[in-house]
Amino acid sequence: MATGNINVTAENIFPIIKKFLYSDHEIFLRELISNATDATLKLKHLSTLGEVKGDIGNPIIEIKVDKDKKEIRIIDQGIGMTGEEVEKYINQVAFSGAEEFVEKYKDKVEDSGIIGHFGLGFYSSFMVASKVEIFTKSFVEGSKAVRWECDGSPKYTLEETDKTTRGTEIVLHIDEDSLEFLEEGKITQLLNKYNKFMPIPIKFGTREESLPLPEGAAEDAKPEKITVDNIVNNPTPAWTKNPTDLSDEDYKEFYRELYPMQFEEPLFNIHLNVDYPFNLTGILYFPKLSKSVDPMKDKIQLYQNQVFVTDNVEGIVPDFLQMLRGVIDSPDIPLNVSRSYLQADGAVKKISSYITRKVADKLISLFKNDRKAFEAKWDDIKVIIEYGMLSEEKFFEKSDKFALYPTVDKEYFTFEELVEEIKPTQTDKDDKVVILYASDVKSQHSYIDAAKEKGYQVLLLDSPIVSHLIQKLEGSKENIQFVRVDADHVDNLIKKDENQISKLSDEEKETLKPIIEEAIPKETYTVQLEAMDSNANPFMITQPEFMRRMKEMQATGGGGMMG
Ligand code: ADP
Ligand code: MG
Repeated sequence: MATGNINVTAENIFPIIKKFLYSDHEIFLRELISNATDATLKLKHLSTLGEVKGDIGNPIIEIKVDKDKKEIRIIDQGIGMTGEEVEKYINQVAFSGAEEFVEKYKDKVEDSGIIGHFGLGFYSSFMVASKVEIFTKSFVEGSKAVRWECDGSPKYTLEETDKTTRGTEIVLHIDEDSLEFLEEGKITQLLNKYNKFMPIPIKFGTREESLPLPEGAAEDAKPEKITVDNIVNNPTPAWTKNPTDLSDEDYKEFYRELYPMQFEEPLFNIHLNVDYPFNLTGILYFPKLSKSVDPMKDKIQLYQNQVFVTDNVEGIVPDFLQMLRGVIDSPDIPLNVSRSYLQADGAVKKISSYITRKVADKLISLFKNDRKAFEAKWDDIKVIIEYGMLSEEKFFEKSDKFALYPTVDKEYFTFEELVEEIKPTQTDKDDKVVILYASDVKSQHSYIDAAKEKGYQVLLLDSPIVSHLIQKLEGSKENIQFVRVDADHVDNLIKKDENQISKLSDEEKETLKPIIEEAIPKETYTVQLEAMDSNANPFMITQPEFMRRMKEMQATGGGGMMG
């Protein structure tokens, strides 16, 4: 038996770490399972190189909780460690890693939102354990098993032990202030949160499973029950697979796996897969956004090598895509930095624009391949798309190929098609194409009817950000102008058909006009008796377009309308 001192300069970094990551104590389990996974993947790799003797079988990782003894065990069948390796990797690597961590981040507690996701590694076990033991046996033939023990101080014990199987067993003696982690429910919850898609099967207890009834069994026959390992994770989640190997149903199935409480099916998905200049895989879903869904829940989840990191992807995914759902897995996103740094990071910027491009490309292909189906989804996706057109220039440029402009009669035009369609009838004196739109069919129906009777197309643009989008389009497209269908100069703008006859006689108009004008505020509305030829409406009260927009701007507090 040997005892020794771990060579660290900070005598006791333990209390600092404990305090620093107080809210993140639970990550100890993720860290230890990550190490067990690394060790198992290394073994598999060495085995394929012929460096491991014999068949390694199907190694799994097991978690055991003993409430009475206040112990949690994490057991793997990976490469294990020799005594020298324990000295090197645990006493030096793990402890110096922890020390470095504290040195770097002790002053940045306010940023711990993301830094907390940065792994402390093996040392994080001391956040919940007053004593930690390691039993380990290396895969190298003839190596002796060892036991290491430490209470978080720089003192440790290392001795030979009688473990006969390959791999590592970590025993956590849970501290009095962390007893919650001995609850089965708590461990299940953590496994579900961090380890749901890790690449090595993780066993936590056993469960009963019913065998299928044999053919011709009696109607009241009870299926035979067997006890099987309770494997808590799916080691090969859909995003790690080749898109060509996945069906639509597979993608939907994975969506349900990710969001078990989500009953609405996603509209479509985007499979991300790139390995240069950064590494990223993932699947994003356009959800059917319904009012019953809490936007704070069921967000995009960020993974690193199948280990859950966070579901706050702010700064990584462009704002307009944060309403999407799904998974992004990338080892190239730096997590040991603050949010503000993250946003300025070159690799992260590239990732963000890659995702934007993939989403745009997917929308283009959906539109091209099945336009009718795309049109049917438009109402569900337009908010995200319009927001993207406003906030991401690159996305705006591509949007011409898929952004739709529906009429009040649910006919869908692209911008180009729309201009082509209305040019002959809706061009004003200055040769500008006038795009008429309504924002609300109910309150504007008489104006809509009147415009339609004249043969004009009226768009229905009713999303909350549409006035901003109109500004954006007017600013970037040549020779077009948007005019709301109830604006006063609809008829002035559009080249008049001189033969148009009003339903009212001149006399009728003379008498009517002052009466109506009396009843409404003249400063904001204009009475038009000539312009109408609809059966339903003998006259119209209109509001100048600019007045209306001014009011809208005042209401939303936005600026820049007059510029
Ligand atoms: P990291 O995983 O980032 O290297 P850790 O502090 O988590 O840092 O672990 C330190 C080292 O200890 C690992 O790099 C590995 O060499 C060794 N180690 C930890 N856990 C295991 C294990 N279960 N099996 C084999 N080696 C392990
Ligand atoms: Mg580790």
